[in-house]
Amino acid sequence: MAINYVCRHCRTLIGRIEAANVSETQLGFHFLTPDERRDIITYDSSGDTTVRMTCDYCREALSNHPELTLLNSPLQ
Ligand SMILES: [Zn+2]
Repeated sequence: MAINYVCRHCRTLIGRIEAANVSETQLGFHFLTPDERRDIITYDSSGDTTVRMTCDYCREALSNHPELTLLNSPLQ
């Protein structure tokens, strides 16, 4: 099992953890609401887990252009 951290905006691979026995608690997934989990975490057919985050580049772009975040928010 591996966990891939991918930027949700530009799809850059941020990091990868190779872990045989890492639990969701160790990864901090238990802090997420069910909706957040559905949005952030995906499991592919090979058993890998993909976690969608925001990379440093996109985080900076979003902080310089906060209006961009509205495009992805269902509340707006
Ligand atoms: Zn990015």
